[in-house]
Amino acid sequence: MSSVRKPFKTHYDALGLPPPPESDDVSPVEIKQAYHNSLLLYHPDKAQDLPDGYSSAELLDAVIAAYTVLSVPRTRRVYDQSLLLHTVGSATGSVAAFAAATENAETVDLDDLDHIEICTVHNSLDDYLRGIAAPDAACLADKHCNFIEVWSRSCRCGNIRGYVVTDELLEQLLDAQEEQGGRTDGGELLTQCTGCSSWIKIAFELSG
Ligand SMILES: [Zn+2]
Ligand SMILES: [Zn+2]
Repeated sequence: MSSVRKPFKTHYDALGLPPPPESDDVSPVEIKQAYHNSLLLYHPDKAQDLPDGYSSAELLDAVIAAYTVLSVPRTRRVYDQSLLLHTVGSATGSVAAFAAATENAETVDLDDLDHIEICTVHNSLDDYLRGIAAPDAACLADKHCNFIEVWSRSCRCGNIRGYVVTDELLEQLLDAQEEQGGRTDGGELLTQCTGCSSWIKIAFELSG
């Protein structure tokens, strides 16, 4: 995980969408539409005013990364939770409720989760997370591939990949910690099961 400079603060920014909770009503169809709009906006032939000296390629990479996470309901939900986590700071009711729900979360080491690299272009991340697809059966291993790292763990509720973490989410957490003057070599990511209301805390250390 490198700390490449990022043109957008969040995946929602990359697609020109509002952050959660405002984005809660944004449907998968609208996310797809926003993705296509952003692809056009930053296309090398069409781009007029690119933000802050970023190249068309950098912006498109960020847009594709955003769509990878936000187009899959499960990873979108996990991502939304991590965003809400990072904006905690005011003593609102929802923050208090969040603190209560996560207070007793079990801590699990990232190394103890199932780990896989999956190509989101040729494979269905959603099928994999639902446990119904062999992950690299259909990957053509060509220039179109977009590999992401996914860690998952089953939940007591029976959801085989109830807890899901991606390398994007870990980078988001590290970026947020860095902004607040915190750790840049590891941390703890609170994650909610996609099938029930349980939470776990996933601890990770960057090696090297
Ligand atoms: Zn592929
Ligand atoms: Zn569960």
